[in-house]
Amino acid sequence: MNKGYLSLRDLSKQFGKQTALLDIQLDINKHEFICLLGPSGCGKTTLLRIIAGLEKSDTGKLVIAGRDISSLPAGKRNFGMMFQSYALFPNLTVSQNIAYGLSGRMTKPQIIDRVDEMLDLVELNEQRNKVPSQLSGGQQQRVALARALAFSPDCLLLDEPLSALDAKVRVKLRNEIKRLHQKFGMTTVMVTHDQEEALTMADRIVVMNHARIIQVGTPMEIYEKPATPFVADFIGAISFIEQPPGGMWRGLLAIRPEHVQLVGENSKPSMQAFVRELEYRGTHYRLVLEVVNKLRQFITIDVAAKEMDTFHVRLDGLVRFVLPEEHIITFQSSAEYAVV
Ligand code: ATP
Repeated sequence: MNKGYLSLRDLSKQFGKQTALLDIQLDINKHEFICLLGPSGCGKTTLLRIIAGLEKSDTGKLVIAGRDISSLPAGKRNFGMMFQSYALFPNLTVSQNIAYGLSGRMTKPQIIDRVDEMLDLVELNEQRNKVPSQLSGGQQQRVALARALAFSPDCLLLDEPLSALDAKVRVKLRNEIKRLHQKFGMTTVMVTHDQEEALTMADRIVVMNHARIIQVGTPMEIYEKPATPFVADFIGAISFIEQPPGGMWRGLLAIRPEHVQLVGENSKPSMQAFVRELEYRGTHYRLVLEVVNKLRQFITIDVAAKEMDTFHVRLDGLVRFVLPEEHIITFQSSAEYAVV
């Protein structure tokens, strides 16, 4: 992997009084699949548009393979793009849409071959003569993907490409994009606000909030070692536990629901809690426990269906639980706690 292939340095962007990006530093490796993840308005799309050349940053620079491309117009960057709104040409057929960006880059016979290849790749051969209005949403997105990949771009930029699709098509297309990425190895940057999408697709996730990058890491690092309470709260479920003064821990503690363990009545040391919420989730139950202590804390816990009887779990009933030390995440401060 070519380290620091695409480098973003000191990027800031202001829209009037609104800060969209603040001092962004990011190194993207060649062939990497990066997801920009964060709540609405955190600056993801603005960052992608600056990488694409569709927006100009106020400060900073963008370097690809050692070359400063900050002033290079979008059309000269050799980046493939696919956006949430498909922006296919409504009066052109599937084949013509895919071929659109290729004239001037290839000869006619080469274009015909490339379109055939792309149609095979996204399995749209039978739809080649249809116009976009005759296709499903998922098929339209596959045409957009084929079009973005047809000219072998250096980078593929995807802005929420799956968000308009229903859940099943979404998962199918998610796998399709992953498969194509593995096949061609194009450096890919995808904007999403869907944590599951980021966790399943990305080599590394860039978590953003309030115009800044908060953490960059592999999905496992982000999930298991969140840098701030905000990251922990934004990705996956988590319970935060306040510390009574003089306790053995310092700072703010947190634990994922799958790591909290129910134990038998006589297990010591353990804590006691009332079951205040109980939700069936197929493979397991999700409970919200109200801890019997002065702080009246609430802890979310996932319990395997077969354990429900073992521990006599009932709504408003009492249970005992432990927080395994190895799974407790500690934060020095609660800054960036809330998802705004
Ligand atoms: P979403 O997930 O809702 O698309 P985002 O993380 O992609 O959000 P951006 O679209 O990058 O966020 O917007 C970042 C901030 O900049 C927001 O506060 C937005 O209102 C503002 N902004 C973006 N584009 C413009 C613009 N052209 N003019 C003025 N403000 C803008």
